[in-house]
Amino acid sequence: MKNTTFNIQFLGTCACDFSPKLENEFKDKFDNDARRSSAVLLNGKYLIDSGVHILDSLRIAGADRETITDIFLTHIHDDHFDILNVKELAKGKKSPLRIWLREDTRMPQIENTEYIKMTPYTKYEVEKGLFITGVNANHDEAAFPQHLIIEKDGKKMFYGCDGGWMLTKTYDFLKNADLDLMVLDCTIGDYVGDYRIFEHNSISTLRLMLPTFKNENIITEKTKVIFSHIAPSLHKPHNELVDIARELSCEVAYDGKIMEI
Ligand SMILES: [Zn+2]
Ligand SMILES: [Zn+2]
Repeated sequence: MKNTTFNIQFLGTCACDFSPKLENEFKDKFDNDARRSSAVLLNGKYLIDSGVHILDSLRIAGADRETITDIFLTHIHDDHFDILNVKELAKGKKSPLRIWLREDTRMPQIENTEYIKMTPYTKYEVEKGLFITGVNANHDEAAFPQHLIIEKDGKKMFYGCDGGWMLTKTYDFLKNADLDLMVLDCTIGDYVGDYRIFEHNSISTLRLMLPTFKNENIITEKTKVIFSHIAPSLHKPHNELVDIARELSCEVAYDGKIMEI
């Protein structure tokens, strides 16, 4: 029997260039080329990020909001953190919604939530046997960014949206991680010259980093590497991007994608 440690549901896989079709044609469904704000639902109870589209994404995915106990926050850009939506998610919960964030994040108080401040490179136990570590990310410092490493029962996943070229300290920390899953920012498509390159990945920077991740056993044969946080306006259509990613032994996330590790 297959032993599942993590059930991962991508609720949003977009960078910030949201399609106007999300308001009409795709109001009640997911579309691979009209992506919503970047988020993942883990094991039905942990949200990674909760941006502008999170309530719609949860509705379309048919997810039960009541079972969500924690939000793991990568940073406070509004495509990852929307205060009104977080208020709505926290409303009526029997115990406060826990929000895990980088320790220096400046946040207003939100009713019925509890902040858990994370010191970078320090491991915290979320529930018995499930651990989370925040590591520094190469992204707008004003948004208090962190990448996340989540571990349980010997399985390990890395979530790196948003962030560009891996910082040295984080790269050193990840050596020999032997990840089961690595979700990487892929905001920019397969060309050079875009201004976002200093805080987001492109296909070109990923192409350079991935072989080194492999050489240092950050990723191995078993690792699923997934591109997410994709700007449709900077990429070929999803199906073509899938082919480009396949050449790098990677997959492309899409809204609604479910995977188990
Ligand atoms: Zn973002
Ligand atoms: Zn951001």
